[in-house]
Amino acid sequence: MHSDVLIIGAGSAGSVLAERLSVDAARRVTVVEAGPGLSDSVALSQIGDGLRLPIGTASSVVRRYPTTLTEAPERHAQIMRGAVVGGSGAVNGGYFCRGLPSDFDGWGLPGWAWSDVLPHFRAIETDRDFQGPLHGGTGPIQVQRVNEFDGCTATFVDAAIASGYVWIDDLNGSTPEAPLPSGIGAVPLNINGGTRVGPGGAYLKPAMHRENLTVLTDTRVRRIRITGGRAVGVECVGPDGASGLTADRIVLSAGAIGSSHLLMLSGIGPCDVLKAAGVPVIADLPVGAASSDHPEWVLPVDWTETHGLPPLEAILSTDDGLEIRPYTAGFGAMVSGSRDDPADHPHIGVALMQPQSRGRVRLRSADPDVLPTIQHRYDSAPADVAKLRSGAAFARELAGPAAKSDTVSWSTSQHLAGTAAMGHDGDRGAVVDTQCRVRGIDALWVVDGSVLPTITSRGPHATIVMLGHRAAEFIA
Ligand SMILES: Cc1cc2nc3c(=O)[nH]c(=O)nc-3n(C[C@H](O)[C@H](O)[C@H](O)COP(=O)(O)OP(=O)(O)OC[C@H]3O[C@@H](n4cnc5c(N)ncnc54)[C@H](O)[C@@H]3O)c2cc1C
Repeated sequence: MHSDVLIIGAGSAGSVLAERLSVDAARRVTVVEAGPGLSDSVALSQIGDGLRLPIGTASSVVRRYPTTLTEAPERHAQIMRGAVVGGSGAVNGGYFCRGLPSDFDGWGLPGWAWSDVLPHFRAIETDRDFQGPLHGGTGPIQVQRVNEFDGCTATFVDAAIASGYVWIDDLNGSTPEAPLPSGIGAVPLNINGGTRVGPGGAYLKPAMHRENLTVLTDTRVRRIRITGGRAVGVECVGPDGASGLTADRIVLSAGAIGSSHLLMLSGIGPCDVLKAAGVPVIADLPVGAASSDHPEWVLPVDWTETHGLPPLEAILSTDDGLEIRPYTAGFGAMVSGSRDDPADHPHIGVALMQPQSRGRVRLRSADPDVLPTIQHRYDSAPADVAKLRSGAAFARELAGPAAKSDTVSWSTSQHLAGTAAMGHDGDRGAVVDTQCRVRGIDALWVVDGSVLPTITSRGPHATIVMLGHRAAEFIA
């Protein structure tokens, strides 16, 4: 089968991209997605409920990857990625905060200033709480905030205000002229009446009837075929076995792990890493060499759980770049929905939003079934660890006697990004140019969280959905 555009991965960015590109009926668009589609009732029953994260051991809609969070000592953890139409956006916490204007303006990349991205943030959403020039009123993703808190969230909001922090009405209301101060506010959520409104359901599903759009689910791409410096097709395995697909343009939207893994399997990556894995080098590029993610320390607290509500309803942003998160329940409850285990305590997360640490995703083998090695290296920047430590002390102060112990545990916000960073011509750290084209290879783009030059100061989901919308015009 030959397409004009072939998109690998129907995740947060890929779903939007597929919808945008297939608007033109003359363009044949094929999407290859490793996970199940939305007609799969087992998958649908897991991803619809926006009040829980369907990532537990029984989940059939995630893929798990081992990682090392810190090096000294080594702290091992498992991270997940959504493996279903809608990708990680179909299994995430529903926090839909835009990156800050200073993130985009700070990148200094043509086409990605705040004034360039704002129209795309507006286009993807319908904000049910705020109108005006900063907000969208007609986009597919419904955004709203919880306006009355109880349980953990109410206790936390009261403590933050009592300690002198201001209330922020609209966490998506920052502008370069009037940046938001530090303070506490309600999280913009892409959850409507308890249902997750993710990019798979809100963007891709309504476009599925288009005759020029084909979505191949339960089909995993194993390698991109590159001939004479041009991406020409993919090798994949689906329900009917191995097959090949060709296309004029190929877009990787397989997520920060999936896209970097496929690039390296296909000969695009650091020369030494590829050679060690036995993959012939086509382009020596720093794939997976400097990823970023939000490190998070977790403190159990003896607060009353918030019932029947999203995992996170309010956040506190501090002056030193921390986001303090009063999760509404214990981790087990957030995953299973069942809140009757007294040992499963609610907790506070302390996340560093502009970490200096950089991680790695490295190819281990030329065999696509062997997962890459992931190292977050969260302890590689002592200044980050110091900030997390002072943030944890402050969170304990806010919790008062409800703080369960002095111990905190290392965790990750599961926001891995920047494995194929975008950058200027001449930027040796860049894998793609400012139009998301892989350097030195024709007809190959990366459009997903991999290309973020650094992780945004807020959770990345809204930014990645925006990115799918923004990049559609580059590929069209
Ligand atoms: C548990 C969890 C909770 C999170 N909570 C939040 C939150 O509340 N707010 C927030 O801002 N961010 C959150 N995030 C992060 C955010 O959801 C992700 O950063 C974002 O969805 C990534 O989008 P993406 O398009 O880069 O990749 P993904 O959405 O992960 O999409 C990649 C897609 O590609 C497919 N794929 C991968 N490899 C292949 C292959 N070889 N062949 C075919 N298909 C392939 C995958 O199955 C997947 O569907 C969370 C993430 C997780 C895992």
